[in-house]
Amino acid sequence: MSIPHVLAIPFPAQGHVIPLMEVSKRLVERGIQVTFVNTDFIHKRVVDVLMDEDLLGDKIRLVSIPDGLEPGEDRNDLGLLAEAMFRVMPGKLAELIRETEEKGEKITCILADGSTGWALEVAQKMNIPKAAFWPASVALFASGLSIPKMISDGIINDEGVVIKHQKFQLATGIPDMSPANLTWACIGDAATQKIIFKVMVTMSKSAELADWFIGNTSCDLEPAALAFARRILPIGPLLANHRLDSSAGYFWPEDSNCLKWLDQQPHKSVVYVAFGSFTVFDQIQFQELALGLELCNRPFLWVVRPDITEEKDDAYPKGFEERISGRGKLVGWAPQQKVLAHPAIACFVSHCGWNSTMEGASNGIPFLCWPYFADQFLNESYICDLWRVGLRFDRHESGIIRREEIKRKVDQLLDDHNFGKRASDIKEKLANGIEEGGESDKNFSNFVQWLKALRA
Ligand code: UDP
Repeated sequence: MSIPHVLAIPFPAQGHVIPLMEVSKRLVERGIQVTFVNTDFIHKRVVDVLMDEDLLGDKIRLVSIPDGLEPGEDRNDLGLLAEAMFRVMPGKLAELIRETEEKGEKITCILADGSTGWALEVAQKMNIPKAAFWPASVALFASGLSIPKMISDGIINDEGVVIKHQKFQLATGIPDMSPANLTWACIGDAATQKIIFKVMVTMSKSAELADWFIGNTSCDLEPAALAFARRILPIGPLLANHRLDSSAGYFWPEDSNCLKWLDQQPHKSVVYVAFGSFTVFDQIQFQELALGLELCNRPFLWVVRPDITEEKDDAYPKGFEERISGRGKLVGWAPQQKVLAHPAIACFVSHCGWNSTMEGASNGIPFLCWPYFADQFLNESYICDLWRVGLRFDRHESGIIRREEIKRKVDQLLDDHNFGKRASDIKEKLANGIEEGGESDKNFSNFVQWLKALRA
């Protein structure tokens, strides 16, 4: 009997590729072969960062298909990208599947990111078993499911434009939603918002096609949302604590020197500051953040992605780097999961992307929330209002988060041990869920068994 072969298709963004790669590595550990289909653009970035010693073996094959955009087009424009993908990728994926099968390699299952519902439709047409993977919160998926109700309640119109600015709740235990913070309503311009709204509508429909639907969440974190969107089975938190230690899937090379620097810092002393892969700051806010970290007078590790500000030279305030040297460490991209697991970390100043949220929560780290766009406001609400393991920053009337506010909140969070205590409780629950026999572990094992039975 040949081994099952899964074709994994992520949405082409860092926060989607990393968790689907984690799922793929786990599948490989359970004896399943994976072909990982990135877009050509992302594939090149991933391969450029891969180190020689990366242990992918022959079990995860990295391949690619075009995303429909021209080389110079802006792939951070999510509307443009989603539309081009929808136009071109279904045909290219079908071609890839045909070519693979012509070589005599049967595909057992398509495992597609929930935001690439078109891939499930391709699988449906080609009569291939299909599974969806949801890398974000189930609360976000639940908001997509609730679009028809939001329209009939007059909260949005049928193009997703907000009509009624009143907070609402899908169910007790799911964070309150502000219409202005609905995922599509806080991404880019009006045209982008319409496209992302369409993606959410299609996503909810095509997820119906999936034979299996797994998500990077846990029943301890999102019991109400999981009861609302019953199809999603939690398999998270997906953390890189497995044998196949590889940097495959990362878009930037990590600077692991910061781990040695962390080794020299006192226990629970360091403020870790990172905003994921998309966040961009204007120059005033960037400098204010730098001055806020300086004002805190604590050790800090700050991830300053090469493209985090539009200012290329002299982005920092005058003399900043000299003044903070020794106490502050700046890196372009950190091995975040290892950083958050380090005993020197005291708290996480985060944009609240779902992966960062899961990684902080599973390491028992309290948060300071600085959401930027999309679902990050929803995640902030989980952190601050429901799990109560973090605080939000208040903005000055100018819209800026001021340096004094940064210091005030860092002090408030670290002086109140209840935040750390609740964060440790969550860490313990999450660890139980992924241990053998835990809910997430059981769901994943059942998924693997299903895949294996397809080949029986
Ligand atoms: N990440 C990392 N190093 C960094 C910053 C981020 O490895 O310096 C990883 C982080 O661990 C997470 C992912 O990048 O897995 C970011 O995903 P998230 O959902 O938090 O945010 P997004 O980039 O999608 O906004």
